[in-house]
Amino acid sequence: MSRIVGIDLGTTNSLVAIVDSGIPYVIADPEGQRLTPSVVHVPGPGAATIVGHPANRVRILKPAETVYSVKRFMGRRGSDIAREEMLVTYPVAGSGSGPVTLQLHGRAWTPEEISAEILRKLKADAEASLGEPVTRAVITVPAYFNDAQRNATIRAGELAGLTVERIVNEPTAAALAYGLDKLKDKARIAVYDLGGGTFDLSVLELNQGVFQVLSTHGDTRLGGDDLDKRVVAHLCQEIRSAGGPDLSPATNTPDLLPLLSRVREAAERAKIRLSSETETEVSLPFLTPDFNFTCRLSRARLEELTRDIVERTRAHCLRSLSDAKLEASALDQVILVGGQTRMPLVRKLVSEWFGCVEFGEVRGDLRLGDEYHKAKGPELNTGVNPDEAVALGAAIQGEILAGGFRNLLLLDVTPLSLGIETFGGLMNVIIPRNTTIPVKAGELFTTAVDNQRSMLIHVLQGERERAMDNWSLGRFELEFEAAPKGVPRVGVQFEIDANGVLHVLARDVKTGHQKVVQMKSAVDVDDADVQKMVEESVANAFDDLRARQWIEAKIRAGETLIATRKTMAEYDAELDPDYRTQLHQALDEVESVLSLENPKTKTGDPARLKAATAALDEVTKPLAEYAMDKVMEAMLRKKGVL
Ligand code: ADP
Ligand code: MG
Repeated sequence: MSRIVGIDLGTTNSLVAIVDSGIPYVIADPEGQRLTPSVVHVPGPGAATIVGHPANRVRILKPAETVYSVKRFMGRRGSDIAREEMLVTYPVAGSGSGPVTLQLHGRAWTPEEISAEILRKLKADAEASLGEPVTRAVITVPAYFNDAQRNATIRAGELAGLTVERIVNEPTAAALAYGLDKLKDKARIAVYDLGGGTFDLSVLELNQGVFQVLSTHGDTRLGGDDLDKRVVAHLCQEIRSAGGPDLSPATNTPDLLPLLSRVREAAERAKIRLSSETETEVSLPFLTPDFNFTCRLSRARLEELTRDIVERTRAHCLRSLSDAKLEASALDQVILVGGQTRMPLVRKLVSEWFGCVEFGEVRGDLRLGDEYHKAKGPELNTGVNPDEAVALGAAIQGEILAGGFRNLLLLDVTPLSLGIETFGGLMNVIIPRNTTIPVKAGELFTTAVDNQRSMLIHVLQGERERAMDNWSLGRFELEFEAAPKGVPRVGVQFEIDANGVLHVLARDVKTGHQKVVQMKSAVDVDDADVQKMVEESVANAFDDLRARQWIEAKIRAGETLIATRKTMAEYDAELDPDYRTQLHQALDEVESVLSLENPKTKTGDPARLKAATAALDEVTKPLAEYAMDKVMEAMLRKKGVL
């Protein structure tokens, strides 16, 4: 299945984002730009369209052939175009309940067709960056969009060759980008979105991971552009008083348009710089052949020029809260979305209006965390780039729909333990159940038999003590040089990547020879099966424990038997007959307990076997000491000491 991109098809700017290995990011175009102005220029009859930054640059020079803010026309009817918010510089036609069309070089374009041009560019950028075809997308729309507007957005996607897998509300996408779906069960979030030409405040309620829009209120003709206009007006005045051309609207003639276009660009750039600097220089060299313009603009002056515009958003916030029947203090968080919210004044005012506290803020001698913080008001969360949050959230939604992220979101832990089979058929856990992924863990193993030339790595998943009761994920062999048992060292490492895929590495420590094998997904298992496995492990906990103890006791008994018999055979002639009988009795007891193993359950009495083995150990002590003395003696003789 192909991946699903997330697209923020904005009034002013559009973005495309993707989730890669669990991390969402905005895809840049070949020039490295992450924001594409939602502007489409049609240069001539039948000519190919120009989209994005280059179109934005000619917008003021070719106002009648350059479409901006097309989002305002999506799903609207002819009768709507008389509305003030629909006034634009390019010709728009339509009447009654008929469709709206945009007249460009003799061709009637639908708003969907223009939007499709923007989507096509984003699709191409994503394909160039990902190196694979992109055919599926999640596209966001304002929460207040009606059915017709949503359907028009889906049609635009289809025209661009995209299957629109889901339409998501912009505030919901933003909340997803902030990871707010993981907040406590019931949380309320206000999303303050101030973009280029629109403003809205939405109140969301999160209920067990699902967002519901409680209310949304705003102004579709209020945004960053309005601030730009104030700065433009201010600059035009300054230009005039510095002896430059008169650029006021009254004297606007076509030959002044290129100048106005430069002033407009400079104004927006200065506004943006003043979000991070307190003063900036506006410089327009050769505004006319004999006039260079420069002036300084301070953040304080910008705030003076535009404060009333920002303040106009307040009434909508209050209205939205009252529609949701909430007081600001009942909110858990306020998040800021839209490029214009980068302006410090916006942050300051919003924070004041909502009575926000910065998380971790110190008031008096109390640190505002948890309870106290909650009692005081919502937290102003500004952790995600405000102009990217919506696209990132759309990408996250896309990844959830594609199935890749569901596991990570809902099962971001290993559902069952993972390990390998060890000697005697036991499960040796390497990554315990409920470990957060991605994760890497390993252990060193050795051989149980002399001259073993390879080790079987049998990868298991499950909660049972014995290998045979767990699920087998796969097996492979690692070869190494023959050596006495216990000498070879094989490191086994398990790594579960963000997609839940398990990679098993086995390495012979001595030579560095290694193998890496990818197992089927360790995370993607059926919930019912996991439940069954866990239940069985609980139901069989007692038997399983006994089985493990039995196997461990059996391995220990086996080793003791072999060692005792070997030593006895070596020193048989020198043994005292009574002592020999004692030894045989102890050996027989161990053998007989072993023979009592139930052939069906493959278990016996581990306590009795341990006791018998311990008794045998005790009895063999004098023999072991005697053998040790003999060995020492032989060694010293060889060296000529004795
Ligand atoms: P939309 O959602 O309408 O497509 P965006 O969220 O991209 O719009 O916001 C675009 C607006 O944000 C423009 O008016 C732009 O000037 C403004 N903007 C972008 N960055 C900044 C900044 N750093 N400071 C102030 N305003 C900014
Ligand atoms: Mg937006």
